[in-house]
Amino acid sequence: MADYKAPLRDMRFVLREVFEIDKLWASLAGTRDSVDVETADAILEQAAKIAAEEIAPLSREADEHGSRWQQGEVVSPPGFKAAYQTFAEGGWCGLGGNAEYGGMGMPKTLVAQVEEMVQGADMSFGLAPMLSAGACLSIDAHASEELKDKYLPNLYSGIWSGAMDLTEPHAGTDLGMIRTRAEPNPDGSYSLTGTKIFITWGEHDMAENIIHLVLAKLPDAPAGSKGISMFLVPKILVNDDGSLGQRNSVACGSIEKKMGIKASATCVMNYDGARGWLVGERNRGLACMFTMMNYERLGVGIQGLGAADASYQNAVEYARERLQSRSPEGAKNPDKAADPIIVHPDVRRMLLTMRAFNEGARAFSTYVAKWLDIAKFSDDKVDIKHASGMVALLTPIAKAFITDKALETTVIGQQVFGGHGFIREWGQEQLVRDARITQIYEGTNGIQAMDLMGRKTVANGGEFLQLFVAEVEGFIRANSDSEALAEFIRPLSAELDNLQRVSTTVIEQARQDPNAIGAAAVEYLHLFGYTVYAYLWASMAKAALAGIEGGDADFYRAKLAVARFYYGRLLPQTKALSAHILEGSGPLMALEAELF
Ligand SMILES: Cc1cc2nc3c(=O)[nH]c(=O)nc-3n(C[C@H](O)[C@H](O)[C@H](O)COP(=O)(O)OP(=O)(O)OC[C@H]3O[C@@H](n4cnc5c(N)ncnc54)[C@H](O)[C@@H]3O)c2cc1C
Repeated sequence: MADYKAPLRDMRFVLREVFEIDKLWASLAGTRDSVDVETADAILEQAAKIAAEEIAPLSREADEHGSRWQQGEVVSPPGFKAAYQTFAEGGWCGLGGNAEYGGMGMPKTLVAQVEEMVQGADMSFGLAPMLSAGACLSIDAHASEELKDKYLPNLYSGIWSGAMDLTEPHAGTDLGMIRTRAEPNPDGSYSLTGTKIFITWGEHDMAENIIHLVLAKLPDAPAGSKGISMFLVPKILVNDDGSLGQRNSVACGSIEKKMGIKASATCVMNYDGARGWLVGERNRGLACMFTMMNYERLGVGIQGLGAADASYQNAVEYARERLQSRSPEGAKNPDKAADPIIVHPDVRRMLLTMRAFNEGARAFSTYVAKWLDIAKFSDDKVDIKHASGMVALLTPIAKAFITDKALETTVIGQQVFGGHGFIREWGQEQLVRDARITQIYEGTNGIQAMDLMGRKTVANGGEFLQLFVAEVEGFIRANSDSEALAEFIRPLSAELDNLQRVSTTVIEQARQDPNAIGAAAVEYLHLFGYTVYAYLWASMAKAALAGIEGGDADFYRAKLAVARFYYGRLLPQTKALSAHILEGSGPLMALEAELF
């Protein structure tokens, strides 16, 4: 198993050369004075160190050991507590947090890179700061000043951690059905009663206190999703002076045994009249949760990327060292009994597929982060509206496409190892098991696809889609005279036309057929994902051509080779996807349920 190394060179390429991040940060009111490329570089270097030296070395034993439940307490795997404390003391938990309450206020474009490193080092560990950051976002956006003052500083410093409590045994996707109740108390607090399941790091020993954001229903709440409110429920009650008081009536009943992310605790949380405080307006809890969901959904995509990149790093090292058979071109390694497997075209297909999806995903997560930064840090209303539309459109694709490809990639990474990929010692099977959950939680990928096609495309007649189309058309126009880029620009133009044509058809189909969206959604999201990656690979090819004369030629030559591989070997998938989509819902709905 290779030691995890953060892909710093590629991150710098994406930030500086593809997205010209210095110009973006200088143009935004909220980042102009707080970050520049030198500061960012120092942060990336430090994050790379902590990911490689403090977190990654724990991953394998933590997977074997898991978190353990003992009479309501959860003991984290060996080394996690100390690593979490080091991580917290370094200020990493508050990297993207609001500076008014002790966060560092860094833009998502930078935070996304740090998140990738932490998740690449170990996804189970990475979930703890990720959930805290999500909880902080919601509290910052919706809670009263009193709650913000009381809770945010300790969450940003990592002294406390956050958890998100939505799911119940009978209510996952359909949160309108939750049964947890919140009864008002005379002092303005609420008493919460009910059971939540699958709560990640809902209980553990790494932080002094755990702040749960819990969805529950008030006694007079309307039925369904319009009757959900959000409450802040600390594990240990916090006194007015900020000191810790009594234990609240919330307890971890058990933790799950599961396929992957075994080191993280997935908790059943029982609320028995636990004291909580309303965050945001009554019955508007889902909207409050959605504030953090765009961030968390991108965060889950980044988790997939982290695991997939770790798998690639291992696979390349193995493919260089493992000697089997001879190259079809004749012996490349005549002094040894066989050639390294990297000579074989099929092994190269595997490695290049992994690399093309991973580097595409890194550019994509940074691209979405760019729009999140504009939406958050700009002071121009028109730009904010545009950026918010792009975030809405791209977030479900970033969550589902990156994670679907991450599973594919980690499975390929396992395949490169042959039988050894199936054996625990090498770490490749852990990455497959870990990556799998990213397709499921934070809204299944099927639900992301329905969101993209239903709410974000059909419902607004393709308004957000047109923002993306206009941007890519602008890129195509601006580069139409470049002979060097023609090999990318021409097919990109054809793919964009195809996406528009298919979108027009599905919008039309959805008007006549209630099953049209559900039938086409997953393939539509993939078609969109491949097209977004085509745009980003063309952008990366452009940056590589611009950089190649200035030194580091191998890096840029490799970038161009992978771009060509993406266009030649992966992008043609869009043809099959388009055919699936245009087939409509007929073949799916023809079979009666009882005949399955
Ligand atoms: C390890 C782990 C960690 C988790 N962490 C957390 C956490 O920290 N906090 C938290 O609150 N939850 C957490 N979850 C819960 C997770 O978010 C849910 O499991 C997920 O959202 C799906 O809900 P469900 O399991 O109830 O599946 P269901 O909602 O029952 O869905 C079952 C299947 O039906 C499909 N489906 C459902 N409705 C539709 C529809 N309308 N159209 C088409 N298809 C549909 C789904 O896509 C899925 O394939 C976690 C889960 C796991 C396994």
